[in-house]
Amino acid sequence: MPKKSKKSKSKRTTLKQKYKVIKKVKEHHKKKAKLLKKSGRKAKAPKDPGIPSQWPFKQELVKEIEWEKQRQIDEKKRKKEERRLQQAKVDGSHEDGEDMETGEGLTFEDVQQEAAAKQRAFESQQAKTSTSGNGGEKEGSRRAFYKEFVKVVEAADVVIEVLDARDPLSSRCADVERYVRQAGASKKLILLLNKIDLVPREVAEAWLKYLREELPTVAFKCSTQRQAANLGQRRLPAAASADGGFAGSECLGAETLLQLLKNYARASNIKTAITVGVVGLPNVGKSSLINSLKRARVAQTGNTPGVTKAVQQIHLDKTVTLLDSPGIVFSHAGGDAVAALRNCLKVEQLEDPVAAAAAVVGRCEARQLMALYKVPGFEGPDALLRHIAAARGKLRKGGLPDIEVAARIMLHDWNDGRISYYTLPPKRDDHGHAAAAVVPAYSTEFNADEVYAEQQRAVVASLPSVADGEFFETQPVGEADVNLEAMDADGGPRRAEDSDEDADEDEGSAMSDGEEEAAMRLRSQSSKAAAAAAAAASQAAKLYAEEGQFNPHEARAQRKQQKKTRRRTVSTGGKGSAASDEYDFAEAFHSVNVGSDED
Ligand code: GDP
Repeated sequence: MPKKSKKSKSKRTTLKQKYKVIKKVKEHHKKKAKLLKKSGRKAKAPKDPGIPSQWPFKQELVKEIEWEKQRQIDEKKRKKEERRLQQAKVDGSHEDGEDMETGEGLTFEDVQQEAAAKQRAFESQQAKTSTSGNGGEKEGSRRAFYKEFVKVVEAADVVIEVLDARDPLSSRCADVERYVRQAGASKKLILLLNKIDLVPREVAEAWLKYLREELPTVAFKCSTQRQAANLGQRRLPAAASADGGFAGSECLGAETLLQLLKNYARASNIKTAITVGVVGLPNVGKSSLINSLKRARVAQTGNTPGVTKAVQQIHLDKTVTLLDSPGIVFSHAGGDAVAALRNCLKVEQLEDPVAAAAAVVGRCEARQLMALYKVPGFEGPDALLRHIAAARGKLRKGGLPDIEVAARIMLHDWNDGRISYYTLPPKRDDHGHAAAAVVPAYSTEFNADEVYAEQQRAVVASLPSVADGEFFETQPVGEADVNLEAMDADGGPRRAEDSDEDADEDEGSAMSDGEEEAAMRLRSQSSKAAAAAAAAASQAAKLYAEEGQFNPHEARAQRKQQKKTRRRTVSTGGKGSAASDEYDFAEAFHSVNVGSDED
């Protein structure tokens, strides 16, 4: 063995030593493998080293992989659904072959619709569960918001549903409207088309016409002044102003709205102040509306959802009291991107702002975005976001454009109205609300015609025309799904007749939280029991439907029936048996014996 100097760090050894080490290592591995085999476990697969963190395009690649994964999952789901549909079709044609021909039974469209409904329910469920991490907290806040919403509806004589004039249907909730209707016949619902300054006159008129066929609707523009008091209200139409267009931060439409409310109070003989609840999705401008009416900043506002957290009561004057509620937390169906389009999620907290921004790009015209961001022509949302990031100096390490920041900028602009867009009302037959009466029944109690004429003069006439070329039409996001039904399962609205019955218990709706929850639980238990009974009945019907199949339930029911008739025969002194054609020895014997016993 060569002599090593003490300072030397060389690892040179003799071959004998080297082979000895190799042999030992081999033996060690063998022993380990044997032990592993004995214990029945499998050897660990070598760990994937992953994408090197220093690689400059790592984030893009990770995103791409995620998208691909999601795409595969969606594809799988779609295929599964297709197979299910096919199966349902085959089963349907076997079971209801004749019915299908006569058109009375399940048609393919029915099955398809049912599948689509199930898919939607599944997706909304998934969206609910997949809103990363803080599911429990979200559920908690959903319940809290729901409670506040219920309080507002219960206390209010009139409920104002605030809609965003740019896409009113996306902020309109059929569930909420149903809830208000069910809460009592005396409660009235008014639609308020807010942010009217962000749409052209023709569009505002079209929407007002569309919505007024169903419910009293007013156009409104909230004051966006930042000062604490003396918020401006404009009386004269802006068309009368020098520039002829609508500009300015004062509120528009307050007078006519108050007029509508006071007309209603007068017509329905409300002697004290009329209580007006304000509901709507987050960020439609509920607090801004209240501030504008009060002409002071009494309700906190902000362009991020969740600013208002509990019900506030604001006395406007001796005839009107307002109730501000937190925005309805909705079920989030369609995922984060759709929620972001509705401005219902905080842009800063969006997990995938790029996907949401891509949805915005898909709804806008390229030239509109090019002019707004001063960028050249682009191919696809990613390219646009890269341009925006570069133009605004939003760069990441290594000088790469930060497309996430660019996406968030774009989403803010979408919500704030810097990206102008509007949607047009659908044709009546295409829409779920079509069932509502076309002739407005509310007209007399609100003295609506007069108010509408005044609205036209004071609010709508002042809006710029679509011909000005500043506005762009987009596709609607789709009706908001607040999923109050899920909450309803635990309680549901208290109807007028219910509240009459338990009026002494909940005087002034003073039920404590604990009591309310207990009542909800009780209601849910009884409804669960009823549902279970119905399910059992339908199961039994299927089980014993076959001819000749012994049905123990039916047999028991028959026995009971026989017993009853026997008793009746006894009580009528055996006269009843005379009615039957055949002599029944057992029955006669029984009746005689029982009759003598009783004597
Ligand atoms: P809330 O969550 O429904 O109470 O909504 P906020 O009152 O907090 O308003 C949300 C955002 O919309 C704020 O940034 C307001 O400035 C803005 N906003 C409200 N009303 C109008 C309006 O009529 N026109 C315009 N342009 N912006 C409005």
